Formats: sequence, structure tokens, C-alpha cells
Amino acid sequence: MTDSAERKMRFLYALRSRGVTDIRVLTAMERIDRGAFVKGLFADRAYEDMPLPISCGQTISQPSVVALMTQALSVTPRDKVLEIGTGSGYQAAILSQLARRVYTVDRHRRLVREAQELFRALDLTNITAFTADGSFGLADQAPFDRIIVTAAAEDAPGPLLAQLKIGGIMVLPVGQSDTVQSLIKVTRHETGFDYEELGPVRFVPLVEGLGPE
Ligand code: SAH
Repeated sequence: MTDSAERKMRFLYALRSRGVTDIRVLTAMERIDRGAFVKGLFADRAYEDMPLPISCGQTISQPSVVALMTQALSVTPRDKVLEIGTGSGYQAAILSQLARRVYTVDRHRRLVREAQELFRALDLTNITAFTADGSFGLADQAPFDRIIVTAAAEDAPGPLLAQLKIGGIMVLPVGQSDTVQSLIKVTRHETGFDYEELGPVRFVPLVEGLGPE
């Protein structure tokens, strides 16, 4: 077996052992090369199950967390998905394999520009990335079938709840500190919202306003 085939097998095995069983999610994780989203010093660690630094002092999430959040989101091929926190663009690229259309926003202009270049290079034509404060969602494109937030807020932001379709699902980390956060799955019903706690996670905070670059 070649090194890269073996690396891929180990990568997928790590996901399965963390509880990723959805074959569509595993296939997406196999197709999108995480190595393309990690630059410089850390590039050779792209296939390890750990978060890594990216530009603007942010992080690309741990692959098993990306996969588990994607699995919890139960994306269908007809869905219009919103992601808050583009970062490297990796999570959006995974979603692009499962959804009809992906909108992703980040408060850092530079991250959005770099992610857009990657989406173009990888021919991921169903992703649109914007620079914006994602706490307000993306009113122009609302409502969404699915919303995923990859930065932690104290609570689910009101505008995001409002932009979720009835029957829609949102997955997000919530917590009051950098160290104690829970992953939450919110399902919108005719009359309100259901909340399910999925387990502890650790994300960078959701910050108000646009970034300096
Ligand atoms: N999903 C990314 C990882 C995200 S890291 C990936 O796959 O690589 C969290 C990201 O959330 C950071 O890039 C940070 O800039 C962004 N962020 C934090 N607060 C935000 C806000 N209010 N609006 C939009 N993006 C925000």
C-alpha cells in the first residue's frame, strides 16, 4: 500500500472509532483532502485527529469533530446550509459534498479570500463565502434547512434561530468560557425548538463585529 493510501485508511479508521458511522459523511471525509486546507508548518499533521492553527489566529477543527457535527446535522441533497465560521473552509467543503448549496461566513476577510481560492481550485462550485458577522446569520439567503456554527457563543444567537426553517436543524457549540462548552443540536418545530446535548467540545469564541484583516 502507498503511504497516502495507508494515511487515508488510518484517517477514516480514527473517524469510525470516534463514532462516525454515516457512510455519506465518511465518503465526503474521504473525498475532501484535509491537507489542502492546512498550510505551512503544520501541513504534515493534516491527517492527524487534532485541531491545527490557520491564519488570523484561528483553528481548523479536529476532523472527528467536523465529521460528528456533520453527522448530527443530517444533511440531505436538497438542503441549503449556512455555516458560521468559514475558517480554513474545510467544514464547508465537507458540507458541499452532501448539500445542494452551502453559504459560509467568517468575520475575517483574509480567511474568506483564502477559502474562496481553495473552493475554486477544488471546483467546489456550490459554496458561496462572505465576510460578515455571522451572529446575524445571512438574512438575504434565509431561511436555511441546516445551520452549523463552528465558534462558541453563550447561547444560540436569536437571528440564527429565526433563520432556521421549520423542520430544520442547527448544530452549535455553546458555553460561557473557552474551556467548558457543549455541542447542541437544535431542531425547529411548528411551535418551538427542541434542544439535545451531544457532548463536550472546545471551539474558539464567536466574536462580534468584523476582524482586523
Ligand atoms: N469551520 C472552520 C473552523 C472554524 S474556527 C474550518 O473548517 O476550518 C472558527 C471561525 O469562526 C474563525 O475563523 C473565526 O474567525 C470565525 N468567527 C468567530 N466569530 C465570528 C462571527 N461573529 N462571525 C463569523 N465568523 C466568526
